[in-house]
Amino acid sequence: MKWELEPLGYLASCYQEKFAIPRQPGLAPSARASLKLLAPYNQAAMVDGLEAFSHLWLTFLFHQNLEQGWKPKVRPPRLGGNKKIGVFASRSTFRPNGLGLSVVRLESIDTRQGVTLELSGIDLVEGTPVVDIKPYLPWVDAVPAARADWAPAAPEDVEVSFSNQAEEKLREDSQGDYLRQLIREVLQQNPRPAYQKIDPERDYGVRLAGHNVKFRYLNEQHLQVIAL
Ligand code: SAH
Repeated sequence: MKWELEPLGYLASCYQEKFAIPRQPGLAPSARASLKLLAPYNQAAMVDGLEAFSHLWLTFLFHQNLEQGWKPKVRPPRLGGNKKIGVFASRSTFRPNGLGLSVVRLESIDTRQGVTLELSGIDLVEGTPVVDIKPYLPWVDAVPAARADWAPAAPEDVEVSFSNQAEEKLREDSQGDYLRQLIREVLQQNPRPAYQKIDPERDYGVRLAGHNVKFRYLNEQHLQVIAL
């Protein structure tokens, strides 16, 4: 049997490409998105009461990966990208049905014209189709004693610094303080693929909140933003 899913809306995200998006939500709390609901789901009635909740579950489609299908085993970055485990033992984006699940912060709800949800702490790329929204219930959804043997805590951060040139650009920008914080939160997740050796000559680039952020690895534990 097959079912059809209809998007409730498409996310407008500060993440304009997949590269460098943290591997789970909440790791970059400053990451913002807005979700404008589409008819017939854009009725204020459908979000009545939602303002009581600080966090939501979003169910969405990994739409950028759907065509690549899935494999029974994957290499999670957490295990250095060289050990394989079962796709259902992972949060891989390449999975049967291509559904993702993220808990995100609900900043505000705007019902002046249709319904727009302002969100933060997201791990989703621009244009992600959202197929369901549910309130996060801490007394049921948080299980502090739960076991996660090979992924017990958030990965360790690396150090992020800014070159003088990048720092100057940030100082000139009216959103500079916000951007500096966002860039730091995102890059300290160490976006380089785990299997890739560091090359101090290599420049990486990522589009983030309308900016082209260029960075380099000074060493395994330290990367520097060289230009914006
Ligand atoms: N919290 C979710 C997603 C974890 S994977 C879950 O556990 O189901 C997070 C990664 O998904 C990000 O690092 C990003 O690279 C990727 N991603 C985000 N939005 C995507 C999309 N629409 N299509 C494909 N990959 C996406």
